[in-house]
Amino acid sequence: MGILVILEQKGNSIHGMSLEAVAAAQDMAEKLNSKLSILVMGNDIDPLTQQAKSLEASEVIAVNHELLKEYSCDGFAEITKQVVEIESPEFVVMAHTYMVRDFLPSVSVFTGAPFIADVISFRAEDGNSVFTKQMFNSKLGSDIVVRGGSCGLVSFQSAAYQASAVKRGDTPVRQIELSLSQEQIRSKSEEPFQESSGGVDLTSADVIVSVGRGIGEDTKIPMVEELAKAMGAEIAASRPVIDSGWLPPFRQVGSSGQNVSPKLYFSVGISGAIQHVVGMKGSQSIIAINKDPDAPIFELADYAVVGDLNEIVPKLTEALQNQ
Ligand SMILES: Cc1cc2nc3c(=O)[nH]c(=O)nc-3n(C[C@H](O)[C@H](O)[C@H](O)COP(=O)(O)OP(=O)(O)OC[C@H]3O[C@@H](n4cnc5c(N)ncnc54)[C@H](O)[C@@H]3O)c2cc1C
Repeated sequence: MGILVILEQKGNSIHGMSLEAVAAAQDMAEKLNSKLSILVMGNDIDPLTQQAKSLEASEVIAVNHELLKEYSCDGFAEITKQVVEIESPEFVVMAHTYMVRDFLPSVSVFTGAPFIADVISFRAEDGNSVFTKQMFNSKLGSDIVVRGGSCGLVSFQSAAYQASAVKRGDTPVRQIELSLSQEQIRSKSEEPFQESSGGVDLTSADVIVSVGRGIGEDTKIPMVEELAKAMGAEIAASRPVIDSGWLPPFRQVGSSGQNVSPKLYFSVGISGAIQHVVGMKGSQSIIAINKDPDAPIFELADYAVVGDLNEIVPKLTEALQNQ
C-alpha cells in the first residue's frame, strides 16, 4: 500500500509535530515512489478530517468511533493494528510525541512490525529505506534498514522535518468502519501531559530567546526575560541554567530537554554543545551572541554577534521597546 502517516489531534487541530510527520511521509513517498495515505482516528473527527483533506496525499482514511473520543493506549493501538492488517502499509509514520511513545510499542507487539523510534532523517539508498537515529547522546548516527518484508513503524524526532514544508492538496477521504469494544479498553488515560506547564509550549513557539551559562548568575535572568518580552518570544535555556535552578526544567532545550523548531532562535551566552544543538538545530533562523568568536554555536548561526551579552542585551531590548 505504501506509506501510512497517522495524525495526532491537539484541541480541534492537527498536532504541529504531526504536520512535521506528514512532511517526512511526503518526502518518503516521493523518494520511494509510493502511495501516501493519511489516517485520522477519533470521535467526531469531521474538523480534523477536513484539515487532513487539505494535505497532499493519495487519500485520507478516517476512522470514527465513539470509544476513540478520549485517547487510550488500548483503543488507539487496536485501531492502528486493524488498519495495518487491512491496508498492509510498508511504513507507518508518526511524530515522536508522548502519545506515540505510549501506544506505538503496543502496535509493534500486536503486528510484529519493528518500531524505529525518534528518527532524524530518511534516505532511499541502493533499494533500501534507510532511517537515521542518534545514539550515545547524539555523538553517533546509526543507520537502520528494515529487512524481511515486514512493515516498519517509524516515529520522527521533533524538527527532523519542517511543518512549513508540508505540501498542500485536495485529498479524497475514505471512511472505514472498524470494531472496538469497551472490554478491549483496559486503560484509562489521565489528562494529556503538558510538555510545559503554565500554558507554555516551547515546541510551538515562533520565537525563542534562549539563555546559557554565559549569563553568569541568576540575577541576570530578568535582563534576558525583558529581551524576550520585547521580542514577543518564549524564554528557554541550556541545561546548566536549568540545573542551577535559574529557570524551571520545562524551559530546557536539548537532548534531555525539548526539541524546538521556531522561526527564530535567539541564543544568548550558549556555547553550542552537541546536546544543546540537537534540540534547536531545526530552527529556521538562528542568532547567537557569544563573546568567544570560536564558540561552536557560530557554526550553526545565521547571524553571529561576537561580544559581551551584558552590553548587547540591554541595548537591544531598549531599541526594541522604543520601536
Ligand atoms: C547526558 C547529557 C545530556 C545533556 N543534555 C543537555 C540538554 O538537553 N541541553 C543542554 O543545553 N545541555 C545538555 N547537556 C550539557 C551540554 O553538554 C553542555 O554542557 C551545555 O549545553 C552547556 O551549556 P551552555 O552553553 O549554557 O554553557 P557553556 O558551555 O559553559 O557556555 C557558555 C558560553 O557563554 C559564553 N559567554 C560567557 N560569558 C559571556 C558574556 N559575558 N557574553 C557573551 N557570551 C558569554 C562563553 O563563551 C560560552 O561559549 C547535556 C550533557 C549530558 C552529558
